Amino acid sequence: MKILLIGAGGREHALAWKIDQSPLVDTLYCAPGNPGMAAHGTCVDIKDSDVEALATFAKEKTVDLVVVGPEAPLAAGIADRLARDGIPCFGPSRKAAQIETSKAYLKDLCAEFEIPTAHYGTFTQADAAKKFLARMTAPYVIKASGLAAGKGVVIAETIEEAHDAIDAMLGGQFGSASSQIVIEEFMKGEEASFFVITDGTRAVKMIGSQDHKRAFDGDTGPNTGGMGAYSPAPVFTPEVEQLTMERIIEPTIKAMRARGTPYVGVLYAGLMVTEDGPKLIEYNARFGDPECQIMMRRMQSDIVPVLLAAARGDLSGKSFSWSEEAAALVVYAAKGYPGAYEKGSEIRNIGAAEAIPGVEVFHAGTKAKGVHLLSNGGRVLNITATGKDGREAVERAYEAIRLIDWPDGYFRTDIGWRMLARDA
Ligand code: AMP
Repeated sequence: MKILLIGAGGREHALAWKIDQSPLVDTLYCAPGNPGMAAHGTCVDIKDSDVEALATFAKEKTVDLVVVGPEAPLAAGIADRLARDGIPCFGPSRKAAQIETSKAYLKDLCAEFEIPTAHYGTFTQADAAKKFLARMTAPYVIKASGLAAGKGVVIAETIEEAHDAIDAMLGGQFGSASSQIVIEEFMKGEEASFFVITDGTRAVKMIGSQDHKRAFDGDTGPNTGGMGAYSPAPVFTPEVEQLTMERIIEPTIKAMRARGTPYVGVLYAGLMVTEDGPKLIEYNARFGDPECQIMMRRMQSDIVPVLLAAARGDLSGKSFSWSEEAAALVVYAAKGYPGAYEKGSEIRNIGAAEAIPGVEVFHAGTKAKGVHLLSNGGRVLNITATGKDGREAVERAYEAIRLIDWPDGYFRTDIGWRMLARDA
């Protein structure tokens, strides 16, 4: 079969690596892809947000399945557009993707269907928001309802800070994305990520993982897209997984169907594991990056039959098998990221890193120039490793990253500290 994979980051490189191993696949196209993905498929120069060009390409090449990596094409309606041509798409419709693109939509869904999450209110007026805030206790959680490139959440320690955030957001800080805000109860616990694949009715479970969002060691510094990840996540016990399925995932799938917007694709639950069990922080309508890379390293079964079955609307009888081994990932980022950074410096010696047993390096922001490999983004490389346990996986990833010659990069040196501390 022929597959078109949309995206150009580390998540998509890991998906391309995994899809390429499937005996079912003859041809893999990657739009736009990256130098790492070029080893697994044919890169096509179409932007991930150019829905019309992507759909035309898929039709011309008679692709059997389109797999969507990032959220931009989903929000732009790629699944709806492909449905018109009868091309199976792994990814939700624009309406179903609202579960990620509108926090107010998600919170109302949780309230209506009794899905455990933080108590909340949604507001478009500062006065009403501040009145509501007066009844809460610190820390205060204030969120832009729409997509704000990961910057739309403020955790304020004082009421003054909270008021400032309300005024800024409703005053247009994130444009229309913050014309509506959500104020939430602060949930105490440990965060974990959990993914399922759904056809709109059934769900195939994936595995739990944890990531590190802050830029620097000790989980300090600014928030990033993610600086590292690992799985298994000790906090995500079989009991927590079962509660998550029963209380959060299954009711959500039912709710989306009941609303007439069945959800097809991967449902990514950001969870807070609290004393009262798992609670939902947010959903994303796509695989997490870097969690996807970790899952691809631990997945033993072929991913393609599950992606295709979900896109066709019938996952009955499908499941995944997982390696007992642990996996860890360390991000090599450009110095300065998530602030301003330079592009275009040369990276050498990836081959030496990949020669270490269990190591695969996924490209996230690179560019080929002749035989040279240059940095071309904030998060540039994902060094992944498997090992008999979390400790070995992390050690191998660090052994590998230290062999890569890239003076303009930096990485955290404590990925997995929570897991390692629990093991100790
Ligand atoms: P979100 O974009 O909604 O995932 O929020 C970004 C981050 O803010 C989360 O990963 C959490 O660390 C934190 N956060 C969001 N909502 C809450 C909450 N209600 N209680 C505690 N922490 C939260």
